[in-house]
Amino acid sequence: FQPWNDPAAKPLIEFRHVTKRFGGVTAVAEVSLSLYPREFFALLGPSGCGKTTLMRMLAGFETPDAGQILLGGTDITEMPPHLRPVNMMFQSYALFPHLSVADNIAYGLKRERLPRAEIAQRVAEMLALVKLDGLGKRRPDQLSGGQRQRVALARALAKRPKLLLLDEPMAALDRKLREATQFELMDLQSELGTTFMVVTHDQDEAMTMADRMAVMDHGRLVQIGPPDVIYEAPVNAYVASFVGDINVLEGHVVAVEGDLVRVETGITGMVELDEEAPALAIGASVLVGLRPEKLDLSHDEPPQPFNKVAGEIWDIGYLGDVTMVQVMVGGEGGWLVKVALTNRRRRAARPFAWEDKVWLSWDVEAGLVLKP
Ligand code: ATP
Repeated sequence: FQPWNDPAAKPLIEFRHVTKRFGGVTAVAEVSLSLYPREFFALLGPSGCGKTTLMRMLAGFETPDAGQILLGGTDITEMPPHLRPVNMMFQSYALFPHLSVADNIAYGLKRERLPRAEIAQRVAEMLALVKLDGLGKRRPDQLSGGQRQRVALARALAKRPKLLLLDEPMAALDRKLREATQFELMDLQSELGTTFMVVTHDQDEAMTMADRMAVMDHGRLVQIGPPDVIYEAPVNAYVASFVGDINVLEGHVVAVEGDLVRVETGITGMVELDEEAPALAIGASVLVGLRPEKLDLSHDEPPQPFNKVAGEIWDIGYLGDVTMVQVMVGGEGGWLVKVALTNRRRRAARPFAWEDKVWLSWDVEAGLVLKP
């Protein structure tokens, strides 16, 4: 399922150079983006980067100052919200407290004046879909947080929109429920074939659920792609540090030979990277990114000539699945490096301990060249 790589695939939604300002603030800047039928898309970014505004323009609650929004090739930029085949599930759920679960789900259908029998059937269908059969008569305050979220989801899906917008759908759920709900939402989406666009500032959530995601910064889309591509090949330091943990080194390019790039950093000496970096010139300042799980830790000096540095263990955090070790390179105030050791096997004969003198090392494939 990769319609974005298929030139013949027709997008469901197209943003074309969309800009939205509020007074002096440019909330969304020149955004161009296509969403495809059946796609699960996540919009990721810190608070205030413009995610909600982008989504609200799609729902029709805001009008762009410039640019166009198309749905199935038709310009809907000025179309009122209720005429769009788009629905939104709000972070607060916005359920009517005085209405039963069934009446909450039926609300939009009644406004559309669908026949009674059809409404009843659709409500039953939706209750089954979100696994709330038998709870139709309850009021929202008689439900758990997770159940309330399902009602909100059922209500948003009842009109069978082509596109469902979800604004921080898991924000009110606790961690455990959140994880379970992520998978349920993915199942539901693939069963219905509806395009989902979820807004979140939780990178794990975006990466788990999305076919593709976009990382936003100050109103701009910085990178769009499948989660693994964004994680493994971030375009710059902002994306790299927003999606996962990363250790960053400053340096300058000393050699480029095919895919092999050599960077001199003051801290670790020469770093060798296997990276297609055609635009890199000798002498250019770059950042080298090293993900914590791509680093190796040992007590003995590794034989390789490059890509290693000595340090001291500053901290060890056991997290169950992994152990996070912080290694200080260059003494106090130096470069503090995070290393993630998986706990798949019981650790080798000599475990690591605080204040151990250790060596960090990594493969040529591990380093990422990042734009500042
Ligand atoms: P959050 O994750 O906190 O919801 P966000 O990424 O969704 O943030 P937006 O809500 O889209 O960000 O806001 C983007 C920018 O536009 C912010 O600087 C915000 O203050 C501003 N903004 C949004 N809506 C309005 C409005 N109605 N009037 C004035 N400024 C607004």
